[in-house]
Amino acid sequence: MSLHIYNTLSRKKEEFVPLVSQEVKIYHCGPTVYWVQHIGNMRAVFFGDIVNRTFQYLGYKTTFIRNYTDVGHLTGDNIGDADTGIDRMEKAAISEMSTPDQIAQKYIDMYTKDVQLLNTLIPSHSPRATEHIGDMIALIESLLASGYAYTTPEAVYFDTSKVENYTKLSGQKIEENVTGSGHGDVTKTSKKHPTDFSLWFFKVGPHANALQVWESPFRSTLVTNGLGFPGWHIECSAMSKHFLGPTFDIHLGGIEHIPVHHTNEIAQSECANGVEYVKYWLHNEHLLVDGGKMSKSEGTSYSLHDIVAKGYDPLVLRYFFLQAHYRSKQNFTWDALEASKVAYKKIATFLKSTSDTGNISKEYKEKFIAAISDDFNTAAALALVHELIKTRFVSDGDKKATLLDFDAVLGLDLSHLATADDFPELVRGLAEKRNKAKSEKDWELADKIRAELHDLGYSVSDTKDGYTIAKL
Ligand code: AMP
Ligand code: ZN
Repeated sequence: MSLHIYNTLSRKKEEFVPLVSQEVKIYHCGPTVYWVQHIGNMRAVFFGDIVNRTFQYLGYKTTFIRNYTDVGHLTGDNIGDADTGIDRMEKAAISEMSTPDQIAQKYIDMYTKDVQLLNTLIPSHSPRATEHIGDMIALIESLLASGYAYTTPEAVYFDTSKVENYTKLSGQKIEENVTGSGHGDVTKTSKKHPTDFSLWFFKVGPHANALQVWESPFRSTLVTNGLGFPGWHIECSAMSKHFLGPTFDIHLGGIEHIPVHHTNEIAQSECANGVEYVKYWLHNEHLLVDGGKMSKSEGTSYSLHDIVAKGYDPLVLRYFFLQAHYRSKQNFTWDALEASKVAYKKIATFLKSTSDTGNISKEYKEKFIAAISDDFNTAAALALVHELIKTRFVSDGDKKATLLDFDAVLGLDLSHLATADDFPELVRGLAEKRNKAKSEKDWELADKIRAELHDLGYSVSDTKDGYTIAKL
């Protein structure tokens, strides 16, 4: 059966045809690591994971890249106000009295832990933008050489007027894109067109105090040795080329990236490489909270930690995400999460009450493949799970075998649900690690792990034969 996916570029569902048979190369725009990621960001990670798992389930070899943006993403960037604002990493470094590198490490560690709790597969590579400055410089050099970029004393800019179909991804008229390009005051910089964007910022003007800078072959009279830092868009073009080549199968990202970030990635990659950049563009819709945008000031920008602290297994959140199609907005409420918990428990109850494992039901597997092959319809796949649990025409043992097979895509950790306690794998692992530290009399490490478990909302107490875990 063939897989059909919605391609933002053509604005329709298309049959997926890989560049190389049974292989798929995927790039997912990752987080800017300056702050704790909220559950909206987690929905995006979950979506990437579903795409990765689905291809693997269907027998493809996947190469999945998700980057960390640790330089160059300015505070104005997401609203298309691409040349204003300061670097998000530096803003965080200043407010936390830390260095950008320490900030990056701290939030990468938190993120890694969170996405592990959500049971997402580890990407093939997770590059940090700062590790690929050389690749970015090479791309910018080739754009300058072919006349697609120009240098001003403030920055090296990409010349959007040179691109034939600059807005092909968004389908917007260029005037709309100009409006969308925000409040950047063109007269203040020497940019030629409002939609032109910076490939390299020199360490001047608003960026005179930039903390993360590199020498470059680009020249400004205002700095020595081209000192500066890359723009956000060139980072993804450079990292994807490094790991996947100039043309690859699938690019993923949030819907807000269509008009600016991904539009610019296409323009610069296709002009630099002279070949089509990406075959299929997939964009996930946003998560809302209580019907509105998540907001730090309104206290609705929940993190995974907030979910766990209220006593929910992170996989209940994963179950919640599975219920919506990635191209629909999804509304998070605590009631909806509670309902997900109940539904997830139903699967657990069935699995725990069934000790035998039989054969995978061919009929249900076919239906499952049809659901996920229809543009990753996880909601339909999940409905099928409950239909399977209810049906009288499949034996309990076969149901169990079938559910465990589906879990390669669903990622609900069903093999553990089937066996023992309700604690997530990470929690069990930490408790085990603490027990080992104790037996080795490493009290410091044991205490550290106890505190970590506490942070996750679990307590561990010692017993005669070992230990027990409890939810706080
Ligand atoms: P950022 O760190 O802001 O660059 O965002 C990291 C990723 O999370 C991006 O792919 C965004 O598209 C995605 N994202 C941000 N907010 C939401 C949301 N409310 N729902 C779903 N995805 C989001
Ligand atoms: Zn990107």
